[in-house]
Amino acid sequence: DTASETKPFQAEVAELLNLMVHSVYSETDIFLRELISNASDALDKLRYESIATPALMEAGGAPKIQIVPRKAPDTLTVIDNGIGMNRQELIDNLGTIAKSGTKSFLTKLTEAKDGAGLIGQFGVGFYAAFMVADNIVVTSRRAGSGEVWTWSSSGGAGFEIAPASEEAAARVVRGTEIVLHLKPDAAKYLEAYQIERIVSEYSDNIQFPIELVPEEGEPRQINSASALWQRSKSELTEEDYNQAYKQIAGAFDEPAMTLHYRAEGRQSYAVLLFAPATKPFDLFEPERKGRIKLYVRRVFITADADLLPPYLRFLRGVIDSEDLPLNLSREMLQNNPQLAQIRKAVTGKVIGELESLADKKPEDFARIWEAFGPVLKEGLYEDYERREKLLALARFTTTAGEKRTLSQYVEAMKENQTEIYYLVGDSIERLKSNPKLESATARGIEVLLLTDGVDAFWTSGQLDFGGKPLKSLSQGDVNFDLIPKLDADKPDDKPDETKADEATVIAVIKDALGERVSDVKASQRLTSSASCLVAGGFGPDRELEKMLARANK
Ligand code: ADP
Ligand code: MG
Repeated sequence: DTASETKPFQAEVAELLNLMVHSVYSETDIFLRELISNASDALDKLRYESIATPALMEAGGAPKIQIVPRKAPDTLTVIDNGIGMNRQELIDNLGTIAKSGTKSFLTKLTEAKDGAGLIGQFGVGFYAAFMVADNIVVTSRRAGSGEVWTWSSSGGAGFEIAPASEEAAARVVRGTEIVLHLKPDAAKYLEAYQIERIVSEYSDNIQFPIELVPEEGEPRQINSASALWQRSKSELTEEDYNQAYKQIAGAFDEPAMTLHYRAEGRQSYAVLLFAPATKPFDLFEPERKGRIKLYVRRVFITADADLLPPYLRFLRGVIDSEDLPLNLSREMLQNNPQLAQIRKAVTGKVIGELESLADKKPEDFARIWEAFGPVLKEGLYEDYERREKLLALARFTTTAGEKRTLSQYVEAMKENQTEIYYLVGDSIERLKSNPKLESATARGIEVLLLTDGVDAFWTSGQLDFGGKPLKSLSQGDVNFDLIPKLDADKPDDKPDETKADEATVIAVIKDALGERVSDVKASQRLTSSASCLVAGGFGPDRELEKMLARANK
């Protein structure tokens, strides 16, 4: 494998590049953020691998990132002395997209008017550079390797991979050099002030020094290169946090909640977490992976440590431990009791913070619930310990209004009402016209109208709130006997002859339906409709039955 070769891009990459090359996305600035973030990841990986193999650090100098603008021909070069890539890694990493959700992302991007927000969220990463460059040359040396390879592409269908020239190999002692041949309309990225503006906006919190290397004069550092989460809360402004959020989450919006603290005691660690204000499009990918990054004494270890339960996967941020061993292998992370303790403590803190947000800044909490309520509800069946707290945080649309809490519901309960009623369905409109509501409405009883996909699941857990059981109006017997109708002119008691008729009618219907139903009963749910189908008292809810039927198809 020493000759040069031309290889095709994976179909998704080709499609993405086509969008990038011909795009008119307004946020082209993010290409630099993406390249810097890759450089920073590469330095993180080097630091991590050098714990086991210190020799990797020997040649190549102190970790840093350099940005080198040069005019005529117009090139912008981003250099890092991180882990680097060998031939196969260049082919795999810069020729395919391994990320889940790529397909749906591409569809969305094709449809979007300006996909800037989407591009930022998804992190098209390296490929974003094709928004500003018509040709890209990547030269890379894996740390410790004698081989240096060059990858180059002008977008289009494929790329070329070849051994690096002698000069290039001499230049790249360790890590990666990325040369962007800028499109004519991207020449502004050669201006020092533009580069500084982008770095301070998106990359100031990168932990490694970022240097601007001007045509003339000395290189100078243009970021603060500190780990923001290690600084004390009192010296940080809201702007600092917003910026850190944008960088950590690759987001454009502002966080709806920021949680920053340092735990001391059995273990010490720093926590910096953000709740976004808007929903990422890949929230419901089946992996339900969290995005919290684990650091140990400022060294990035992994983003795969499951530091929070899946129902908090929408949070972004960092946990930096002082006590965990640096040489913690990724496998060991699975069953580490110290990590388990951190997870438990941080989860508790997050729930506490959500509670206080709901109390003190209900508007901000409402945004979180709006975007992530369906995810938080997963905790209702997954986190038994915090179920009551999560139920108290939950906001519901009910027959009495929007954003209702269960406490409000309980306060508004009718005399003699002992249960919390709900109905699960596809849409609020359809639920509102559901005949199963009639009898409750006639009595002024509030009913939760549940329309999220998860609602069928968590409600199947026979929950109660403050000692009041939650009860489905589409399941088993509902007894409203003790609660009078609002309209007293229509008494609940039926005349005797109606009761006799009832028995006859039921017998006839049972006969007609035979084994297709398990029972036929006179119902109190209805006032004007003639009949409705309900699930048995102990079987699964009808909505859950439908969902399971769909899932098993
Ligand atoms: P992501 O960073 O989300 O994985 P990117 O498109 O930004 O996606 O990068 C793809 C992959 O290419 C990275 O995961 C990494 O393995 C590799 N890569 C990109 N830039 C560098 C670099 N400067 N040094 C080492 N590897 C890199
Ligand atoms: Mg990246």
